[in-house]
Formats: sequence, structure tokens, C-alpha cells
Amino acid sequence: MRTVVKTDQHIPAKDSTSSPQSSSNAPIVQLRSVTKTYNNGCHGLLDVSLEVKQKEFLLITGPSGSGKSTLLKLLYGEELATQGEVIVNDCNVTDLRGDRLSLLRRRIGIVFQDYKLIPQRTVAENVTFVLQAQGFTRKEIQRRLEPTLKLVGLLSKANCFPDQLSGGEQQRVSVARAIVGTPPLILADEPTGNLDPDNSWQVIQILQKLNSFGATVIVTTHDEQLVRRCNHPVVQVCNGRLYRK
Ligand code: ADP
Repeated sequence: MRTVVKTDQHIPAKDSTSSPQSSSNAPIVQLRSVTKTYNNGCHGLLDVSLEVKQKEFLLITGPSGSGKSTLLKLLYGEELATQGEVIVNDCNVTDLRGDRLSLLRRRIGIVFQDYKLIPQRTVAENVTFVLQAQGFTRKEIQRRLEPTLKLVGLLSKANCFPDQLSGGEQQRVSVARAIVGTPPLILADEPTGNLDPDNSWQVIQILQKLNSFGATVIVTTHDEQLVRRCNHPVVQVCNGRLYRK
């Protein structure tokens, strides 16, 4: 059965071809016996296999240094597996270089613990910067900006600079930047690591909303309380090995 995956539901459809089409049951992420050993001999991951289906919301938990970031970095090609296969959107990430890797990354929204915003640019500029670099027209960028800022509750702060925002607001800008291109896959690496419980929950709720629109979401966290509150499937990483909870 073919299903329309509407990850851009927060953005008014321009035409009937704007939503990606795919089978909702197909895996969007597969790790097959993946080991990552860093140059210094340190193991990031050890013989990890994992399958994440489209539209899933998966939490990856585990203590600091256990391998959570390594797992996400392998998915967006920041690190390459030493052994095994990493398949994302039907592409073997290990084989991708240059333009083909950039194309894959355009279909992945990434949220970092430390926001990684550009201090000299406004909220609107931070959110649209990547779209500009990707050659979107000014009209298309404007069409996407407003609903995205509305979704993260920052429409009134569009012209503020990052240092005029709270930590929670800055993280919501980084979420807006990750989703404005309507990627089918969102990876969030400890997105709540620097936030208090209220702001953490706000960020998770936005990610849940995107998931309800059809995006696959993978979130790493070491916050056990948040994991219990979320009620999503959980896997645990411990010393580079993956366990189901
Ligand atoms: P987590 O995200 O769970 O905190 P990481 O994936 O960052 O864990 O790290 C897993 C292990 O890999 C740790 O022992 C860490 O020190 C090591 N590691 C991570 N990145 C590097 C690197 N670039 N070079 C060497 N070792 C690394």
C-alpha cells in the first residue's frame, strides 16, 4: 500500500507533488552489524543492528560516552562505520561522498544540544540560511518561514538575534531550522540537554507534532524522566552496544 507521508503539513502545500510518497512500513534507517572505532582505538559503537521504520518516534537513551552521538553521526555521514552497513533513505551512507552525501543530508533535519545558531543572524535568517544555500527562491523561503516559526511558537521573535532569546527559544530556532526544508527524517542529539523540564517538554512536543505529520524522529537523551514521560519506543546504548528496553 502506498501512503502519502506529509512531513510538510505545517507548510501549506504548493502543489500536489510537494509531499514525498513512500511506503509507511518501510525502514528509513537500518544499521547492520555496525562497529565504529575511532582513530585512537576508542569504540564508539560495537556490532549494532537497528531498524527504524518510517513515521516512528524512537528514543535512544544511555549514559554520557555510551555511543548515542556516534550512532546519529553515522546516520548523517559525519562519521563513517568501521564495519557494517548504514542505510538511510535506501542509500548506503558509507558509499556516499560529496554531492550525494549533501543530497542525503538535505533530507535529514538535525538538532544539536548546543543549538549551533549563527550569533550575527536573526531568528528568520538562521532558519532560512540553509534554504538560501540550497537555492530555494525567495518566494518559496518566505512561504516556508512563517508556518515554521508559528509551529515552534517564535513568529513574534523572527527579527531577534540569538543572544536576545532564552535557551529554550534558541533550541526552538534550531528545531525550526531543522524542519523548514520538510525532511522526512529528524535526528535530535540531546536536544534537551541544556534545558529545564518545561522547555525540554516543549521541544519534545514540537518533535511529536512533526512525527504526527509523518516525519520519522530519532532523539537521543540521557534524561530518564523525559523518557518515561514520552511513552515512545526506547533503545539503550551502553558501552557502544545497543539493547532494547
Ligand atoms: P554519547 O553521545 O553517548 O555521549 P559518544 O558517541 O559521543 O557518546 O562517544 C562514544 C565513545 O566514543 C566515547 O568513549 C567517546 O570518548 C568516543 N568518541 C567520540 N567521538 C570521538 C572521536 N572523535 N575520537 C575519539 N573518540 C571518540
